[in-house]
Amino acid sequence: MRFCIVGAGFSGAVLARRLAEAGHQSVVLDERRHVAGNCHTERDAATGIMLHRYGPHIFHTADREVWDYVNRFGRMMPYVNRVKALSGGAVYSLPVNLHTINQFFGTTMNPAEARAFVAAQARRDITEPANFEEQALSMVGDRIYRAFFRGYTRKQWGLDPTELPASILKRLPLRFNYDDNYFNHPFQGMPADGYTAIVAGILDHPGIDVRLGCRFEEAGGDFAHVFYTGPLDRYFGYQLGRLGYRTLDFEEVRAEGDLLGTAVLNYCDEDVPFTRISEHKYFAPWEADRFTGTVCFREYSRLGGAEDIPYYPIRLVGEKSMLSDYVALARRTQGISFLGRLGTYRYLDMDVTIREAMDAATATLERLAEGAAPPAFF
Ligand code: FAD
Ligand code: UDP
Repeated sequence: MRFCIVGAGFSGAVLARRLAEAGHQSVVLDERRHVAGNCHTERDAATGIMLHRYGPHIFHTADREVWDYVNRFGRMMPYVNRVKALSGGAVYSLPVNLHTINQFFGTTMNPAEARAFVAAQARRDITEPANFEEQALSMVGDRIYRAFFRGYTRKQWGLDPTELPASILKRLPLRFNYDDNYFNHPFQGMPADGYTAIVAGILDHPGIDVRLGCRFEEAGGDFAHVFYTGPLDRYFGYQLGRLGYRTLDFEEVRAEGDLLGTAVLNYCDEDVPFTRISEHKYFAPWEADRFTGTVCFREYSRLGGAEDIPYYPIRLVGEKSMLSDYVALARRTQGISFLGRLGTYRYLDMDVTIREAMDAATATLERLAEGAAPPAFF
């Protein structure tokens, strides 16, 4: 069978590969001039530094099959994300760990003392946090909340933390030891040749025909089924309204020598307009010494407009209700399935994206074997 897959990010590429390995042909379309979607990396023409064009991407997972899969298509180098944060004129380590706590309070507490100290500051009356602020207050109390989370979150989301779901903060660990690894996952790394090389390798199969610079809306063709990893509302011409996204503006800063001396520095104070700066050569520590110059990006977050790249879905009550209307419409539509971060309007890490695309391929092959069409959502 011949399928059309819209989007050459991880979702589209992994799905196309699995279908191709089972003997099916696919045309993979992307309106961009490169593969890898938002994970696209390329070497800077002037310095040779590997740049993450749509923001820093660190691969981390607990899913061994997914880890083996990316290692099949690229060489993953050891990389541990250690984030630094500026707050109130001092530099701290994130996620909040024993070093952060001792620095912030000017103490030398051991793990048990710090746990008791933070517990005494936490709001014990909040047993079921209803929003981001309540989640933070019940975990770390008011002082840590104000120093590291309140200002950053207001800048990142353009909303007061009382309006945001508690789940956003639950992504971040709180540790009472000196482990400053931003992630808890057992597998973490950075591709030696960037993500674009990995995705290009996944797409490199005789059953896959990749067409870049090609919008689905203008592409003709007769296909057995379409798999769409672009925005769900865009497919339906925004007929039920626009699903809200935060977009990012990246301001490039170049210099000789280093600017930060680390990969990521978060700016937690609200009077600084950007959320963080990333120094991209430090995402490749094995080669960082090779470069005398540096390329950094200041990251500004704002509400996305019609022309902006959709980055973070805003999943508040209004958007969720619009989403369920689009989901119902999609389920009534024949010949198309939606997947990926844009097709399902969810924030998805790369490992989850790959896992979902693998599972979508398995479900598709099972359906085809039964003579049935793939579902609208997997
Ligand atoms: P995308 O990568 O968005 O691919 C979709 C593709 O479809 C795009 O290339 C687009 O051009 C194309 N397309 C859409 N509509 C059409 C159309 N109509 N016609 C033709 N082409 C179309 N994950 C991690 O695991 N670690 C990280 O550190 C990390 N950092 C992130 C940082 C930021 C700022 C953001 C926003 C996300 C981050 N992620 C990270 C998540 C990661 O970007 C996603 O998991 C991944 O991009 C999802 O892949 P996808 O294929 O679903 O979507
Ligand atoms: N966050 C914060 N201060 C920080 C870093 C993160 O308040 O220094 C909050 C912010 O609301 C963010 C959320 O925690 O959206 C999740 O953080 P993460 O680092 O996962 O954000 P992302 O990588 O998605 O930008």
